[in-house]
Amino acid sequence: MDSRAGRQLPVDVEWGGLSFYTPSMIGHEDWRRPWHAFCAAVVLVALVVSSCNSVLAPMIPSVSAPSEDEETKISREFRREAKKIFKFPNNPEVERYVDRIGRRILAATGPLSFDYRFFVIEDDQLNAFSVPGGSIYVYTGLIERAKSTDELAGVLGHEITHAKNHHMARSSGPDAISILSLLAMVALAKSGSGVQAAGMVGQAVAATRQLAFSRQLEMEADTLGTRYMAAAGYDPKGTISFLKTLDQERALNPIDVPAYILSHPITQERVANADLVVKSLGVTQIRPDDPDALKKVQIIIKMDRPTRDQVVTEYEKLVQRNPQDPDLLYLLGYTEQLQGQLPQARKNYEKSLQLKSENPGLQRDLGRLYAEIGDFTAARNAFDRALALEPNEPLTYLYLGEMLEKSGDLRSAAGAYLNAQNLAPLWDRPPNRLGMVYGKLDRPGDGYYYLGRSFALQDEDDKAINNFDRAIKIIGANSPRGQLIQEELNTLKNRKK
Ligand SMILES: [Zn+2]
Repeated sequence: MDSRAGRQLPVDVEWGGLSFYTPSMIGHEDWRRPWHAFCAAVVLVALVVSSCNSVLAPMIPSVSAPSEDEETKISREFRREAKKIFKFPNNPEVERYVDRIGRRILAATGPLSFDYRFFVIEDDQLNAFSVPGGSIYVYTGLIERAKSTDELAGVLGHEITHAKNHHMARSSGPDAISILSLLAMVALAKSGSGVQAAGMVGQAVAATRQLAFSRQLEMEADTLGTRYMAAAGYDPKGTISFLKTLDQERALNPIDVPAYILSHPITQERVANADLVVKSLGVTQIRPDDPDALKKVQIIIKMDRPTRDQVVTEYEKLVQRNPQDPDLLYLLGYTEQLQGQLPQARKNYEKSLQLKSENPGLQRDLGRLYAEIGDFTAARNAFDRALALEPNEPLTYLYLGEMLEKSGDLRSAAGAYLNAQNLAPLWDRPPNRLGMVYGKLDRPGDGYYYLGRSFALQDEDDKAINNFDRAIKIIGANSPRGQLIQEELNTLKNRKK
């Protein structure tokens, strides 16, 4: 490990065949070893998990569910189909926002039976659903209407419970869970609402109503989901406030019932139950998320529309009214950065920093801004400050890697991407970037290997197998590394059968 200190170039540390980026500005030894931080996080998670287990026993005994493997398979099949049907915002910020909340809640649920995956669908509808096997989808329409991250944490806790406790199998019987019935649900989700039902869509509505969870399962998902999210440090009142948001939505637009309500029927009993759960939890320890994170993601969603200028104007007005509010200055800068108005964005970021210096999200965005204008030294310093404030955020490592790549420092870029990958092992972006960088570094064996990993995470098994095969040919089937890749390859080939 590197032991040099002070203002140096990022170093690329070889360790067991892998290299890690080490932030150059950070003095503390621990921060120089993200891998150690990662292990510490794993230990911490294990502790949280064991302390929660007894509290969070399911209310209703589980009935026969399909084997875990079968659910994992259903999830993967569904993800492949969903990719053909849905549009996904191609934005790492949005992906990480939902994933971060989901993983925090999962850490409080006990041992995981499958690899949970969180996806954001670009669609104005108020909807979210989970598929057996732990694939959870949230619509931009829901994120846009959420009033706080706690509301979204309530939704994710609820959806996680549906998957974790095999609710779909328990409500329709394991045999009834098929990709077809799930796709019917998707068809409904795409169609808009039950009122437009006709023909195919009508059948889909009927199928979805059958798939709609029973009152009892909805209450179980509310009860356990709320307990999980509270144990993860979110405000459990978020569950109730989201149910109220849904009710308002229904009152505002009684004909176009949100798809969410069709698959998760809301009853007075359910609302009363959620109220009781929150009261029974008493005072919980809340660890607030970055307060700007939801607003930033809402800005990204809104700025993807033709009315994007209005978003900038809205924040300009807010700042005029509250010129000393560091969070508003930051968000105004963020809208300007997305618009490409970089000098204005920089001015507002710097003003915000004078009022509130400890904002890792702002330091990261500042790093991206400096990278955009080609000031790589300033960019690196900003990323290092972001990592000092928040050492385990894979998004910061991803953007840092992109900056280093742009500046021509490919070895350090690879190190940064490796850190991102270790912190978020199910995220397909870091291995994709790694594959590209190793290609440029003339290390094609590693290049093909990481591209293979990225494809495997995207459920593109044929492409993954192809890349792993090429990697093994270059690295050598008998080398220790080649044997490890062969194991991953075998797993992929077996799951195709
Ligand atoms: Zn539900």
